[in-house]
Amino acid sequence: MYDPVELAKETEKVVAHNNLRKFYRFRPAKFYGGIATADCVGCCLRCVFCWSRAPLMNPERVGRFYSPQEVFNKLDSIARRHGYSQLRVSGNEPTIGRQHLLNLLDLVEQTGYRFILETNGILIGGDASYAQALAEFKRLHVRVSLKGCDAEQFLLLTGAKPEAFELQLAALRNMINAGASCHAAVMQEFAPEGKLVTLKKRLAEIDTRLVDNLEFEYLIPFPHVVRELARHEINVRCGGLRESIRRNY
Ligand code: SF4
Repeated sequence: MYDPVELAKETEKVVAHNNLRKFYRFRPAKFYGGIATADCVGCCLRCVFCWSRAPLMNPERVGRFYSPQEVFNKLDSIARRHGYSQLRVSGNEPTIGRQHLLNLLDLVEQTGYRFILETNGILIGGDASYAQALAEFKRLHVRVSLKGCDAEQFLLLTGAKPEAFELQLAALRNMINAGASCHAAVMQEFAPEGKLVTLKKRLAEIDTRLVDNLEFEYLIPFPHVVRELARHEINVRCGGLRESIRRNY
């Protein structure tokens, strides 16, 4: 069992320095109806279903360092080529390397793009000032991907100390209190009816809009994901590929 906040600090030493952050790929993606995507290196969780394992487990060996301006230029170029109006950072955990992310958002703010920040929320939940800084960006929408419906599932799926699940909910609370645009997502395969009811109650205590806008994502059954799930003796029926997020937030 590990502490994800401590793991974030250790990971940051490897993937971020001097306002540079490691990335391993830039690509057009079909999600959200089309979005230019930068895949970053390094995360503070170890989800058994993670599709992006190489940068997760070997951040020293994967990717290279980019400045915020370089990342923006690459995203902008992809977006122009494909006619996209949206940009995002995905891959691993974008909130590691806070100054880099905020500087990237500064650049986006001067454009007409919409930016979607996909995060596990751990660092935003642990520090309300992070949410307040994010709330300054009007072109930003934050999607917090919950790792299960409760602390027990969080432990099973991430191997992290179960109380850190509360940080994911705290991230949503901090952002709503700060006035940041956000919603929560949970993986359908790990949201059985009973636990989903409990999760919805927890979300409603923060803000009922989180329940109305709760997104269900689907496990992507890549062979390495299926192998990891089997290794942890977690049985799921894969509901199919996560195609796109159809709603507008
Ligand atoms: S939070 Fe995302 S990037 Fe990090 S281990 Fe989990 S699935 Fe992978």
